[in-house]
Amino acid sequence: MSSTYTESLDKLIEQFGKLPGVGPRTAERLAFYILNAEPAEAMALAGAIKDVKVKIKRCKICNNLSEGPTCQICCDTRRDKSLICVVEQPKDIINLEKTGACKWVYHVLGGHIAPLEGTEPSDLTIDQLIERVRNGDVKEVIMATNPNMAGDGTALYISSLLRPAGVKITRLARGLPTGSTIEYASGKMLTDAIIGRQTLE
Ligand SMILES: [Zn+2]
Repeated sequence: MSSTYTESLDKLIEQFGKLPGVGPRTAERLAFYILNAEPAEAMALAGAIKDVKVKIKRCKICNNLSEGPTCQICCDTRRDKSLICVVEQPKDIINLEKTGACKWVYHVLGGHIAPLEGTEPSDLTIDQLIERVRNGDVKEVIMATNPNMAGDGTALYISSLLRPAGVKITRLARGLPTGSTIEYASGKMLTDAIIGRQTLE
């Protein structure tokens, strides 16, 4: 990058340029926007970036994003803790919750098993899930990994480990097109998939 402006401004342009989908021109435009913004507005942005890095942690029960030791869903006494819905990432929870059809708690795996991408089962929170099922009064585990090859494979792998615990294992299926993701599925599709979940054999 050529140093056209001052050191600080160049640095800000460089940082914006690292964001996904932001090209050099947009990075420059954003940097000038910040330069010309009210100090309070610019500081609020800087503060918000700092907060997400400093305050957000993982829920010690389900691995969801949380600003306390346990997330809002695990703290919610109206939730049925005997139903655990297993998802790949926190964004999936947001989309499933939008349906209003979920009264369960979650378990966030942190991805899916993909040996070719370097993700082994030990990289996910599978051990914690098995511990939860063993130690808690769990009636059903609902596999809501993505309806694609990696998500299906992950669901089958986990269900084989959970089977000895004697828990009912179901999979969101009907209405979700194969190869799609929970993150981008519509509310109607997800609601159908939740209601029509099938037992994993
Ligand atoms: Zn939690």
